[in-house]
Amino acid sequence: MVTCTRRIEWDAMHRIPLHESKCRAFHGHRYAAEITCSAEALDTLGRVVDFGVIKDRVGGWVDQHWDHTAILLEGDPEAGPVAEANERLGRPVYWMDVHPTAENIVAELAAVAQRLLEDAGIRVERVRLWETPNGSAEWLPRSLNRL
Ligand SMILES: [Zn+2]
Repeated sequence: MVTCTRRIEWDAMHRIPLHESKCRAFHGHRYAAEITCSAEALDTLGRVVDFGVIKDRVGGWVDQHWDHTAILLEGDPEAGPVAEANERLGRPVYWMDVHPTAENIVAELAAVAQRLLEDAGIRVERVRLWETPNGSAEWLPRSLNRL
């Protein structure tokens, strides 16, 4: 199988409210996601899909919802002032119903990418999210024939 991978980067703030150490404080990351796709067959030019399609659709969504704002847990007791300010400043907080860890953010991104790429006949095979240069989380589809 041949796949293609597009990298998408953005800057965002988060915090993990119940974290045992410093990640409970508001802090930021340069997130980098690698989105790996496949198709039934390569197109007439020999591509899974043009990299620009992944950039425009998934990168566009990320720009709109995640770049230069905060990704926070819905109900975070410390979030009020941040949410208020970013709403006023045009970069509303993105709320998650689970803690915004790298693992949960990569799962959210994989679901978004699948939805946005579905009608282009592209299958999302893997998404890796780098939260720091040394730490990443990976999403893989659950499928019986992969076990
Ligand atoms: Zn963090």
